[in-house]
Amino acid sequence: MTEDKTVREVVLKEVTKCRSCRFCVDVCPTFQASEGVESMSAYGRIQILRYLLDGALEFDDAFAYLFYSCLQCKRCEEVCREKGQDVDICNAIRLGRRMLAGGLLHKS
Ligand code: SF4
Ligand code: SF4
Repeated sequence: MTEDKTVREVVLKEVTKCRSCRFCVDVCPTFQASEGVESMSAYGRIQILRYLLDGALEFDDAFAYLFYSCLQCKRCEEVCREKGQDVDICNAIRLGRRMLAGGLLHKS
């Protein structure tokens, strides 16, 4: 298995675990600073990653900002774990950046 495929599968596994409860939205400092833009929350980033991976969304430069603006503070992960889901959100976003840098989120 290639490294690119492994990274993709790790991210896909995490984003698929998200059950869209949205408990992680309000605690995200970048969501708070955006005054309500859901794509600037943990949930929003996870959904965009999911759509990019399954091809439902075509890559746009604006998505790079969404991934790189995450502060990796883990507030979202604490809430997700408390609510019983435990999505590895920060790692998924970090790997999303890596795929982005490698052109793996761009449609060929
Ligand atoms: S708290 Fe976890 S399961 Fe709920 S929306 Fe956020 S990432 Fe998904
Ligand atoms: S780690 Fe990123 S997505 Fe999660 S709460 Fe912090 S800024 Fe938001």
